[in-house]
Amino acid sequence: MRPVDCPKCGAPLAPGARDVRVRCTHCGATTDVTREGVARLAATLERAGVRVAERPMTAHEIHAELAARDAVERAKRRRARILAAVFCVLVAVLLGALLLSSSAGR
Ligand SMILES: [Zn+2]
Repeated sequence: MRPVDCPKCGAPLAPGARDVRVRCTHCGATTDVTREGVARLAATLERAGVRVAERPMTAHEIHAELAARDAVERAKRRRARILAAVFCVLVAVLLGALLLSSSAGR
């Protein structure tokens, strides 16, 4: 990885081979040090509320974080589907009971 100087204070940054962002040890500014795509991914994550700038992150960590958020979303959707299914069953049972009682009363 090419050596980078902090754009804010000029101190040399020493990014690891897989780092996406490094925090300047001198002034604390964070700098993207990797390919465009991963930097864009990091920016997308930040817009989604995942704080990438807080610490140096590797592309692998970003993907892990994305996967974790995905799992949370999937669990939420699954719960919603189960609730909908339970509701449908309840309505069916109520309708059935209603039909039974009305035909029994006749
Ligand atoms: Zn700096």
